[in-house]
Amino acid sequence: MNDSRTLPVFLLATEPAAVEIFNEQGKRNLVLVCDHASNRVPECLQQLGLNDVQLADHIGWDPGAAAVARLLAQDLDAPLLLSGYSRLVIDCNRPLASSDLIPQQSAGVIIPGNQNLSSHERDQRIKHLFIPYHQAIEKLVAERTLEQTLRPIAFLSIHSFTPFLFNQQRPWHIGVSHKSDDRFAQNLYKALVKQEDIIVGLNEPYPIEDAFDYSIPVHGEARGLPSAMIEIRQDGLTTQAGIEQWAKRIAQAYRTIELEF
Ligand SMILES: [Zn+2]
Repeated sequence: MNDSRTLPVFLLATEPAAVEIFNEQGKRNLVLVCDHASNRVPECLQQLGLNDVQLADHIGWDPGAAAVARLLAQDLDAPLLLSGYSRLVIDCNRPLASSDLIPQQSAGVIIPGNQNLSSHERDQRIKHLFIPYHQAIEKLVAERTLEQTLRPIAFLSIHSFTPFLFNQQRPWHIGVSHKSDDRFAQNLYKALVKQEDIIVGLNEPYPIEDAFDYSIPVHGEARGLPSAMIEIRQDGLTTQAGIEQWAKRIAQAYRTIELEF
């Protein structure tokens, strides 16, 4: 007998998709991704039991990162894929086996809606959010790789980081990270260092590791693409002027190195 009960819908038709593709037809040999673009929580999860202030904080997303990434995509005419939901619902830059995939706490804040999840609840988030986001990246990268002629496409992820973590002040204004293949990140790092008045970190504030990262290892390095992760300090992204300035700096650095890897 068929089960005629109506199963609850995970995402309503009125809610955004798990992934947004911005400037899909962009002509540059570059794919941009923003894994922590949004702090949105599906309505069925009732804000995970958090208040608006907690969700707006850096634990919910990377504030300012999506705005910089959109400007960068426009300026460089590159496609950009943005995740549609909060990293607290499911972190699209974590391997599925990571204990942080659906965090029970973040920076000391307990996430009530992530406690004691059933395997069905966990699978729903993977099926409706994580998989569609990564499938869209995989599809676009595969199409671009097929189209490539002289040079491989580059793969760049855009993040932002909090100026203070566990009472430690972080000195870098921006960081560029790589894993085993450093050709793209090293060049980008050097181009940013040449710009005035900014402190640039290399593999700071975070290195890329298979146990903690997903997008660069899986979509970039596993395909042999020049890949790098950018992290911008969030206190530089609190105004529109700051967002525009960082997008311009990164675009400028990229233009000076794009023929070198
Ligand atoms: Zn991030």
